Amino acid sequence: MSSARASAHRAALASSNPGKARELEALWPGWSIEPLDMALAPAEEGSTFWANALEKARFGRTLAPEIPWVLGEDSGIEASALGGAPGLRSARFAGAEASDEQNVNRLIAAVAAASDRRVRYVSELSGIGLDGTVLRGRGILAGTLAHAPRGSEGFGYDPIFIPDGESATVAELGDGWKARHSHRAQAARALRQAIEALS
Ligand code: IMP
Repeated sequence: MSSARASAHRAALASSNPGKARELEALWPGWSIEPLDMALAPAEEGSTFWANALEKARFGRTLAPEIPWVLGEDSGIEASALGGAPGLRSARFAGAEASDEQNVNRLIAAVAAASDRRVRYVSELSGIGLDGTVLRGRGILAGTLAHAPRGSEGFGYDPIFIPDGESATVAELGDGWKARHSHRAQAARALRQAIEALS
């Protein structure tokens, strides 16, 4: 059995946010996932979500050399009418310290004149095993942009994101819906399957 297979049910997430590790734990039954303190992590400089996800996991690996899997995640929203923006700049679309509300308002304004209101959430999740094995999980949620915010659950752009096949926004559909269908949930399922396929 390779070291990557030896004790595959313990992982660390390269994110200082303990809420994200708990969210992932709920999507990976039977796994224990701890957050890593990323205060000293280098700035994200990758040109893709995947590059940033991998960079986070690589840094996390230096903090947790003995944990079987170290994971890194990056995500954002892409608007067709804006050629994929805000993309990597999703968290700071309206400025470095922008609030969710300011980012939402900026995106509504940026797409207001466009007939194409398609958007998608993208999540990339990387996993690095003890022997350096790199695995990838990717998730995409496609939808259209609402004209005004609706709903109170979720975060970020959820009040203006209407998933394909739904008439409500993600913030109205709620956290239970997100746990089943979100880009992050899809990426998490894909990566877990890839890791468990090794054993
Ligand atoms: P991060 O991957 O946590 O850094 O998220 C990047 C940014 O993308 C967030 O700050 C949000 O603006 C946006 N984003 C990513 N995932 C979601 C989501 O599930 N709902 C709403 N906004 C999201």
